Amino acid sequence: MTENDRIAAIGVDVGGTFIKAGLLRADGAVVDKRSAATEVDGGVDHVIGRIAGLIGDLHQAAAAAGLEVRAVGLGMPGTLSRRRGVVIAPPNLRGWRNVPVVERLESLTGLRVVLDNDANLAALGEYRCGAGRGTRDMVMLTLGTGIGGGIILGGKLWHGAGENAGEFGHAIAQPGGRRCGCGQLGCLEAYASAASTAVRAAEMITGGQPSCLKDILDRGGLLEAHHVVEAASGGDALAQRVWAETCRYLAVGCINIQCALDPERIVLAGGMSAAGERLLQPVRKAIAELGSESLGARARVCIAELGNDAGFLGAAMAAFDEAGAGA
Ligand SMILES: [Zn+2]
Repeated sequence: MTENDRIAAIGVDVGGTFIKAGLLRADGAVVDKRSAATEVDGGVDHVIGRIAGLIGDLHQAAAAAGLEVRAVGLGMPGTLSRRRGVVIAPPNLRGWRNVPVVERLESLTGLRVVLDNDANLAALGEYRCGAGRGTRDMVMLTLGTGIGGGIILGGKLWHGAGENAGEFGHAIAQPGGRRCGCGQLGCLEAYASAASTAVRAAEMITGGQPSCLKDILDRGGLLEAHHVVEAASGGDALAQRVWAETCRYLAVGCINIQCALDPERIVLAGGMSAAGERLLQPVRKAIAELGSESLGARARVCIAELGNDAGFLGAAMAAFDEAGAGA
């Protein structure tokens, strides 16, 4: 066994519902992985204790396998300061305000902890282990309730002066348009996120337009983006209009990314990317309709490969980078 074979890192991805964590060797092999419910209602100390517990379990697993953990990468949602190691205001972790999570976890685990935004780390995971393999520059759009993103340039995450680079969800796609959760009007997220797709469909149905999706609303159920995708595939005209509009705005986002950064790949990830070809083909078609052929955005758009594992994989990669080791 060489020195490099004994080095490991732990990656942790904290979401509003689940915490996922993995132990990786320097060559990228996953030695062990665990997950636990976040239990946000238990409060900040409780959640930090659960994160520390998962790290402790994986640290023990590493020792049993003869591996030395160099660092822990931690992906957290929402606004944070990577440099200060502080979580500032995550929308889906109630009660978390200015929590010095790095300091807390380092003292609980005795390991070095590196913090970054979850969408950034998921992008790093796809870049090293998934849809971005073999490229130099890649941009990822995470399409969930909101729209997050991550930029990799020359093999490294690009954070920007205020650590907000890659927040494409709040790039303006329609000046003066729908109000976004961030307060701006016309954000990409206000048109092309899963939440917006469901909301726009519901607005048209409650406005009196016919659709098979009306049944869900009549039963008092929650209309979701995947219902719109399925109804569109089944031939429902309203669902087809809404889904085409979502894909058209995503095409605008992709063309703008292409103009700004010219990456080799634009990866569509997150819950909505489960639609696969039903997402990719209409986005490509809209890029061809709206964009200049010479920019070449159409061929560069693709679907993510790693699903929910991208976050902890990327977190471990960031830990290796910080510790100066790894693939
Ligand atoms: Zn916004």
